[in-house]
Amino acid sequence: MPVATPKQYAAMLDAAQEGSYAYAAMNVSSLVTANAALKAFSDKRSDGIIQISTGAGKFVSGLAVGDAVLGAIVLAEAVHKLAERHDVLIGLHTDHCQPGFRDGFMKNWLAKECERLGFETGADGDDVPAAVLQAHPWLESFREETEKGSGRFRRKKSGDVDGFLRPLIQETARRREAGRPNLFQSHMLDASNLPLDLNLQLSRELLALCAQNEIVLEVEAGVVGGEEDGIDHTGAPADKLYTTPEDMVAVYEALHGVGRYMFAATFGNVHGHYKPGVVKLRPEILKAGQQAVLKNFGAEAESDLVFHGGSGTPTEQIAETLDYGVVKMNIDTDTQYAFTRPIVDHVLKNYESVLKVDGEMGDKKHYDPRSYLKKAETGAANRLAQACDDLRSTGKTICGRV
Ligand SMILES: [Zn+2]
Repeated sequence: MPVATPKQYAAMLDAAQEGSYAYAAMNVSSLVTANAALKAFSDKRSDGIIQISTGAGKFVSGLAVGDAVLGAIVLAEAVHKLAERHDVLIGLHTDHCQPGFRDGFMKNWLAKECERLGFETGADGDDVPAAVLQAHPWLESFREETEKGSGRFRRKKSGDVDGFLRPLIQETARRREAGRPNLFQSHMLDASNLPLDLNLQLSRELLALCAQNEIVLEVEAGVVGGEEDGIDHTGAPADKLYTTPEDMVAVYEALHGVGRYMFAATFGNVHGHYKPGVVKLRPEILKAGQQAVLKNFGAEAESDLVFHGGSGTPTEQIAETLDYGVVKMNIDTDTQYAFTRPIVDHVLKNYESVLKVDGEMGDKKHYDPRSYLKKAETGAANRLAQACDDLRSTGKTICGRV
């Protein structure tokens, strides 16, 4: 079965929401990891999501090219072809894409802010007047986080909205015009590095663009970027790591009716910034948020939630989130480890033959990359298969029924 059509993808999300289960969304960065994901979903008779980060896209395009958009397209096209040999539905998704200071959206907003406060700004968004920076204390750290260098040597970092998300949406738009299927079924915009009102403004704009192309948009709110907002790597976690019911209501108000979206609400989960045990997961946050939305807008308003940063979460806690509307859980660190572990085993067990020790020739069959990558593919597939069980998607494929 080829990759899910927009209609099939929507049916997948509906089925998960109604059935209180979720799809594992595995991050892939090569054909081997993509095949591991396909194998696991196939073995488990589970539909699933394969996702590509900006960094993975860059990696896939090769060290000599380093183009995130190109790499994402190449890998997505490969998954489209490979998925045809499997009898489950696969959704293709791109992971975290954060707006940058040089994105068109920010330039427009800055120009308006400068005008409102009676200043002129440089053509490139440079030379932001001090009064404008003072009026928006988050702006300077936002700029530092999203740019390399300083002063006139500032350069934007790759993978921002104009450099990654918009080109990929345009790629799907071009394909649709030519009568071809969508390249990706969904994309993530993570504008949690902006204040909530700007985050929602940008989310709304991109959701409208996605909706024109039958693409689902994943958005994030809750974690506020910038050190001044209290993200502390050593001390107790800030309240901002927990999406409030008010945030969830605001997201619904801003986005409902514009297009289909998923919402990465945060309930203490982090993307590997903290050691285990430092941050406490509080799934009840999701319950409270959903209840606030349902109370204000009725039963139809239940949000499709996404669980990020869940490595090492106990199975019971994962199950709890499924009852509160999580339909997608990102799996990256756990499958990365499960991929690498058998390679380490291979190298340590065959130490004398993977290397040319003391003038010997080693053993070609042990240093042929396929010899250990097959083991790695199996390792990652087995870990993802376990995730399908944890997320209750095993055996529930709707392939052939929609
Ligand atoms: Zn994440």
